[in-house]
Amino acid sequence: MTNHDIQVSVLGLGEMGGALAAALVAAGHPVTVWNRSPGKADRLVAQGARAAATAGDAVRAGQLVIVCLLGDASVREVLEPLAGELAGRTLVNVTTTTPAQSREMAVWAERAGVAYLDGGIMAVPPMIGRPGSSVLYSGSADAFREHKHLLDLWGSSTYFGADAGLASLYDLALLSGMYVMFAGFMHGAAMVAPAGVTAREFAGMAAPWLTAMTGGFEGFAAVIDGGDYTVPGQQSLEFSDLSHLVAASAEQGVSTEVVAMVQKLVQRQIDAGHGKEGFARIIESIRRPA
Ligand code: NAP
Repeated sequence: MTNHDIQVSVLGLGEMGGALAAALVAAGHPVTVWNRSPGKADRLVAQGARAAATAGDAVRAGQLVIVCLLGDASVREVLEPLAGELAGRTLVNVTTTTPAQSREMAVWAERAGVAYLDGGIMAVPPMIGRPGSSVLYSGSADAFREHKHLLDLWGSSTYFGADAGLASLYDLALLSGMYVMFAGFMHGAAMVAPAGVTAREFAGMAAPWLTAMTGGFEGFAAVIDGGDYTVPGQQSLEFSDLSHLVAASAEQGVSTEVVAMVQKLVQRQIDAGHGKEGFARIIESIRRPA
């Protein structure tokens, strides 16, 4: 069977599900689509997809069933009544869930006789099928191997192993980094605003600066993995004291929460007697909650 002979069903045609389905249709796959509310299938049907009246009809139409709903609760609500229909098929769940929810879903799928692959999408809908889009997977290795060609239509596909929670773990860990960086950008924009600097002007400065700073990740990683925060060539925790950032933020009349959060992580290590060690040591504050 060639990849194009596989009947694919996509459940959930929100912003992301619609983009995933459109990429499959554009590549010539026979695709059946379903959405809870009417109307969202119309554009896809015009492009060649078949609309199913119910989620059950969609599941029955597909050997490969892709689910992209709002969250775990909606996936459960839609799929649990369809366990019998799903048996013997492959389910790829690219809905954002916690690792525990992904593992519970994998257990449920195994009991139902469904091959289960969990996914985490590292892209926004307009990026699907374009350079820079990446989707993380874990769960059934056979399902990943068998359908990788098709999954690659959405972006680069990376498989992390049989533990269905791993893709979600990486997904949420990467998003944690992203949101804290975004908060840092917003903080800087708020700081300079009283000086008459627009957020747009600040963004023009912040983007190249933060991009350049990501070059430091590898060095931090080498220290963290080595487990020795005293190795030479690091910026010390004492040097990284952020009191001046906190003070300047207060002087500008903005919240100090974002920078105070980092300062607290630094201070706990200094208080524990590690001030001469490297900045990477703040990971110990994160690993051991106060
Ligand atoms: P969305 O545009 O809000 O669409 C949500 C979808 O879930 C709609 O199809 C909605 O159906 C359906 N839904 C919600 N509750 C339901 C229920 N109880 N029963 C049946 N269907 C239900 O969201 P999205 O952007 O497509 O996101 C979908 C998933 O992709 C989420 O888990 C999200 O975290 C993940 N994701 C999104 C992005 C992004 O940038 N958008 C990026 C990465 C990952 P109705 O049309 O009937 O409301």
